[in-house]
Amino acid sequence: MIKTILTYPNPLLRKKAEPVTEFNEELAEIIQDMAETMFDAPGAGLAAPQIGISKQIAIINTSKKEDDADKEVLALINPEILSGEGSQVDEEGCLSIREYSAKVKRFMTIKVKAMTPEGKEIEFEADEFFARVIQHELDHLEGKLYIDLISSLKRNLYKKRLKKIIQTEAEKKSE
Ligand code: ZN
Repeated sequence: MIKTILTYPNPLLRKKAEPVTEFNEELAEIIQDMAETMFDAPGAGLAAPQIGISKQIAIINTSKKEDDADKEVLALINPEILSGEGSQVDEEGCLSIREYSAKVKRFMTIKVKAMTPEGKEIEFEADEFFARVIQHELDHLEGKLYIDLISSLKRNLYKKRLKKIIQTEAEKKSE
């Protein structure tokens, strides 16, 4: 089922997600809902807190092409970044940060440890865009957003702009 994606400044996006302890049907269903929501958006990845579920679940869109009929998802449960090397700076956006994108610095290469939805432990290396998406989604599980990584000047400008957007919408609704 496609879920509503929570947007900043919703406080649920700031909560540290709880580790998953049971690898059951409920977990599989959450992942399925997250995948449908991510492909519908569409997005490069999605973290469970973005749909209001405070659990350490992140998914990455690994489809080869955007319009690929065989959509592929990598689900990471209780993931951690074991190490990071090098750096990359690129434009980043987020389904939870409306009408904004900014340049963000990330590790170029990371080593990741996680559980599969079946409860098996995996370790792998990721680099470039793939590594960027994983770092972005794992931040969500810590209650962090990419706008925390930009200058306070840029962040404050965005907050002002967002306030205006929300105000305009509220006015439209009350008309
Ligand atoms: Zn995001």
